[in-house]
Amino acid sequence: MIRMDLVAALGTCVLLPWLQDAPAPRVGYDDTPFLPGTSWRVHDGERPQPRVVQPGTPSSAPPSDAIVLFDGDDLDAWEGGPWRLVDGAMEVAGTGDVSTREAFGDVQLHLEWRTPEVLEGEGQGRGNSGVFLMDRYEIQVLDSHENPTYADGQAGALYGQHPPDVNASRAPGAWQSYDVVFEAPRFEAGVLTRPARATVFHNGVLVQHARELLGATAHKQVAAYAPHEPEAPLRLQDHGNPVRFRNIWVRRLDAAGP
Ligand code: MG
Repeated sequence: MIRMDLVAALGTCVLLPWLQDAPAPRVGYDDTPFLPGTSWRVHDGERPQPRVVQPGTPSSAPPSDAIVLFDGDDLDAWEGGPWRLVDGAMEVAGTGDVSTREAFGDVQLHLEWRTPEVLEGEGQGRGNSGVFLMDRYEIQVLDSHENPTYADGQAGALYGQHPPDVNASRAPGAWQSYDVVFEAPRFEAGVLTRPARATVFHNGVLVQHARELLGATAHKQVAAYAPHEPEAPLRLQDHGNPVRFRNIWVRRLDAAGP
């Protein structure tokens, strides 16, 4: 007769030391350059993970002075792709990124996004898309619900630069929102005179507060600025995952004043 209590005890002796020595899953990089002013590398796998916060239910209807970029009916405001129209949403279709026909500088932006309910891939390969302000400054879109990846690459991150302050992600398949205040960088005679700044609410939770960007989004490199026009299109990323977007609107901040 097999004594199961002895088997269990033996198993504990054998397994516990092994479990204690098991390395944490590798989610980032340790061979990339250091981000200026920090002790973290770009996409550092050791950078602390943002604390998880359960979001409430933010409101989202476009105000009267908003420029509506997508209301579920058509893709007229967009070029590139084309993406699919599905259930009042626009969905990544493996056809490339889509960009607004109109160009923007300083804006308030609202949009909603949803990663696939059926889990495929992991880390950066699960529900990856992105919101590129001015065609080059990415706020990451990712399924960051129980999906480890480097902190500066998860949902609400200024990709490769700054993790979100907290992880306010909803479960895959649920609609999520970004509300962004973005100030374009300023250049004079080809020289940067003021960096871009972004404030981001994820599902109504503040995750980036007036954060200065280091430059145009880069992968495995420290971002840097290159002079560009004062207004540029808003671009949504096709990263090969069928992420959906809906209810997209902007307000021009220069037109919002008195
Ligand atoms: Mg992305």
